[in-house]
Amino acid sequence: MLYFRATDPFPLESADHTKLHEFYTRLAAGRLATTRCGACGRLAWPPRGFCGECGSDRFDWTDLSGLGTIHAFTVQEAGLPAGFDGPRVFAIVKIDGLRVFSILVDAEPSSIAVGQPVRLAPLRVADDPSGSPRWLPAFRPA
Ligand SMILES: [Zn+2]
Repeated sequence: MLYFRATDPFPLESADHTKLHEFYTRLAAGRLATTRCGACGRLAWPPRGFCGECGSDRFDWTDLSGLGTIHAFTVQEAGLPAGFDGPRVFAIVKIDGLRVFSILVDAEPSSIAVGQPVRLAPLRVADDPSGSPRWLPAFRPA
């Protein structure tokens, strides 16, 4: 099968492609994680291979709670990426002091409200070119 990277909307998540593969490994296991700088201790979102604060490339992985609240959201009804059914809800979720831009699943757009509690619900998307499953962070009403 031919593979065109330019038409693949999802990240390549394996250790061959990203030093942040641990994020996806934990996500597949139902855990939301991010990096903490090994030099200055800053918690990053999204996970980073180097610290934007002090420039260090030492980091440790930290699991987040998986429970958050909706800080803001928007509903996309047209122009959805291939493979997504609409309407699609995107939300900024406040979780452990971070603001995580994510997809909201199993949510009726007219019943969503700012401040509503949500729980991590990783979303399986198209497999990578080698057939390994891929996951994106997503939340559903708690
Ligand atoms: Zn740092």
